[in-house]
Amino acid sequence: MPNDHGPQSGLADTVQRETALLAPYAMRSSDSLGRTHAEPDHPYRGPFQRDRDRILHSAAYRRLSGKMQVFTGEMGDYHRTRLTHTQEVASIARTIARGLRLNEDLVEALALFHDIGHPPFGHAGEDALSECLVDNGGFSHNQYALVIAETLETRYHTFPGLNLTREVLDGQYSRINHACATPSLLETQVVELADSITYNAHDTDDALKLGLVELNQLTELPLIAATLEKSATDLSAAPARQIRKAMVYGLVDRQVSQLLQYNIRRLVTEDFRSAQDAGNASFQLQMDPDLAEPKRELEQFLFQSVYRHPRLLEVRQQAQNRLRTMFEGYVSNPDLLPARFQQRIGDVGIQRAAAEYLAGMTDRYCDQQFHIHFTRLT
Ligand code: MG
Repeated sequence: MPNDHGPQSGLADTVQRETALLAPYAMRSSDSLGRTHAEPDHPYRGPFQRDRDRILHSAAYRRLSGKMQVFTGEMGDYHRTRLTHTQEVASIARTIARGLRLNEDLVEALALFHDIGHPPFGHAGEDALSECLVDNGGFSHNQYALVIAETLETRYHTFPGLNLTREVLDGQYSRINHACATPSLLETQVVELADSITYNAHDTDDALKLGLVELNQLTELPLIAATLEKSATDLSAAPARQIRKAMVYGLVDRQVSQLLQYNIRRLVTEDFRSAQDAGNASFQLQMDPDLAEPKRELEQFLFQSVYRHPRLLEVRQQAQNRLRTMFEGYVSNPDLLPARFQQRIGDVGIQRAAAEYLAGMTDRYCDQQFHIHFTRLT
């Protein structure tokens, strides 16, 4: 145990805490494959806590506050940004990790990192950049997250990047290549599941609040109908606002509860003795099959009625046009790029350097730069 004079040195505290709290199949800090550039242990923070802190203090993470999740800033201040989405994912992922006795520090680091590579204007921005780089390998936010972590962030003067642990980087690799040779850790899988639980619930909330869909359209969906039926409060005379709030809470609670119940049963049966055992068996955490179809129906509804809503399609189109113009502009005038991205041309070529610079922008900065440098080109 730590003595009265402060924490023990190195990993001892973390190892002790993990031994007491984690299930045998959880990832242990003491089993980490470490970092590209070796570092001494920290006196009281474990390696995944340090990863979390590095991500949290990175410029790319802060910029998530200015990047849209689904809806742009022009549509009000209520809805989620990429940052608040990330925080909700981290919170739900930690709840699941605690329920399954997995490594919460690793889960939190993975969750805070999972969307760090998103360009401005969400998937619309990603599609536009991917089109711009069609002859140069395309653009993927998952791949770009690794470029940020390993190259673009400058935290240390002796090497580039954040020097994250192999486990956090591998978690991101598994998002790029789902069929990669190394089976993903249960902690990585928790973040994937938490991501989809989170956006299903908050996109439903935001779409209702913005008036893109009506409550009665949603209550016809089996997952929402069952969720409201099981609500602890009588909602028959409640105003729409209260029903919306009960629905969002209920959606998260129902999915997380069933996910925990279903997977705890499976993990007890499997009785893995280590994270490696679970990996060797290619064990996959799953949604409760009873929820899989209703969840798919909700996602299909969101896709058709929200993500393809005319108001969003218009924003999407405008953003893509601007990004394409800016990409062409930077490629033909590299002098407009900041010095560090001009230097990057030597490593990755002008096309990718221009796309990387654009991908780092917030929505607002992107718009500003467009008006400063490129309005005359359109
Ligand atoms: Mg996400």
